[in-house]
Amino acid sequence: MASGATWIRHSTREYVATADGDEPGPPAKAPPRPGPSCGRPELVARIRPMAHAVTLIPGDGIGPELARATRRVLDASGVEFDWEVVDAGEAVMAKEGTPLPQYVLDSILRNKVAIKGPITTPVGEGFRSVNVALRQALGLYANLRPVRSIPGLKTRYDDVDLVIVRENTEDLYTGIEHMVGPDAAESIKIITRAASERIARFAFEYAVANGRRKVTAVHKANIMKLSDGLFLESCRTVAARYEGRVAFEDRIVDNMCMQLVQKPELYDVLVLPNLYGDIVSDLCAGLVGGLGVAPGANIGTEAAVFEAVHGSAPKYAGQNRANPTALILSGVLLLRHIGEQAAAERVEDSVRAVIAEGRTVTYDLGGSAGTSEFADAIVARLDSPVTSA
Ligand code: NAD
Repeated sequence: MASGATWIRHSTREYVATADGDEPGPPAKAPPRPGPSCGRPELVARIRPMAHAVTLIPGDGIGPELARATRRVLDASGVEFDWEVVDAGEAVMAKEGTPLPQYVLDSILRNKVAIKGPITTPVGEGFRSVNVALRQALGLYANLRPVRSIPGLKTRYDDVDLVIVRENTEDLYTGIEHMVGPDAAESIKIITRAASERIARFAFEYAVANGRRKVTAVHKANIMKLSDGLFLESCRTVAARYEGRVAFEDRIVDNMCMQLVQKPELYDVLVLPNLYGDIVSDLCAGLVGGLGVAPGANIGTEAAVFEAVHGSAPKYAGQNRANPTALILSGVLLLRHIGEQAAAERVEDSVRAVIAEGRTVTYDLGGSAGTSEFADAIVARLDSPVTSA
């Protein structure tokens, strides 16, 4: 099962013998094992921890600079990575004729884990969203977006601790739309029992695995009685199996938005169809300091892709101004996913400590540091003996 069980999976670090120079990954920590003096250093084996192979998609707009900062921080976490860097998006479209070449999907399926920067989607014309296509092609059915207050950030609340579970594969995002004559357009909203029950199971499994007390299903079943009605019915069916372990309730999406703005502390895990999940995610990001600090993960049975909630913010591209926190915290989710819990805690503590200090943060958090200085401060904190705030 790829829901909660995959999420809390623990991997073991194995030790393997490799030939020097074979691996493009980071330098080995262990010294080369003395071998016969045959004059062929490239064949001298050494013992090193097996690196985690991870696909890295820098993305476009602010994506490449955020990806660079995130890679630096993850490399400084003490975990060994073999990064496989592949490109997708606008620039690739010009070269390959598609913004999402098959080799990108192959790389993710091979490594099972990827981290990606945001990718621009042309508005109203041009290619369909690479982000949506990636989720659909890889069956990344669950979009997980933890939303947690960060000490030191000036926001309306200081105790928000929510988890958004957004269905990622259907709803209005199937892209089935057409013109009905010259002056009307129709978009088809697809909701199936299978996908709705699957995402509800993910939400409940996540709640059980992470000691969460309640799941709230969000819908508009008073108006869309068939589609949203089926989503709600599916959530209720799944909820019945968790009775006594995890509480369940539902809210109509408009009321949910007001409730979240007024009393976010009443909520715990939210499960939503695709479009409401998209909108409510940004609303919740606003509760804890904005899009610059909101991480995310797309989880499927075959692979997981970690990415920030925010987009490519083209107006800040290449200026070393954007906040890398959201992608770095997506990296923390990645570390947990691959079983590197201790490193995940260290990186998260370091990020929170740098933000709490408030000296080296980006413009959106009230500071004047650049993306790379922010990352430098996190790395310095990671390298110091005490990382907690
Ligand atoms: P956006 O999230 O890119 O930016 C909205 C605003 O939020 C920015 O103008 C900026 O003020 C702020 N912001 C976002 N990220 C920030 C960061 N890291 N640091 C500081 N401030 C930040 O949303 P948009 O402008 O609606 O979308 C731009 C493009 O991104 C579009 O093409 C959209 O399709 C795409 N997009 C991609 C993804 C993805 O790759 N998963 C997600 C959302 C949007």
